[in-house]
Amino acid sequence: MEVQQHMRWRQSFIAEVSEALQQLGLRACLVCGSADALGIERSPVFLLTGGLPPAGEDPALGEDRDYDLTCAVRIECAGCGHLMLFNANMYRAEDEQILVREPS
Ligand SMILES: [Zn+2]
Repeated sequence: MEVQQHMRWRQSFIAEVSEALQQLGLRACLVCGSADALGIERSPVFLLTGGLPPAGEDPALGEDRDYDLTCAVRIECAGCGHLMLFNANMYRAEDEQILVREPS
């Protein structure tokens, strides 16, 4: 039986993104204004542009492909459910390993 694995952000990357967004001015929910309801999801969101990847390929490891895969950080407000997505590449140092695999 295959072991199901999940992709997670590295803890250090979550901390970096969180700090960067606060410096950009994201300190409270844009909709309800709640300051401490914002939470960063530990797993990435993959946004696929331009078609489906071939079966069996690991989308997270693909780089030079026909399709464009955006790895996004998902932030959700626990107060009103407002969802925000940020492109992880904007917050990633070059060659930085930002994803880890974890058994579910
Ligand atoms: Zn809110």
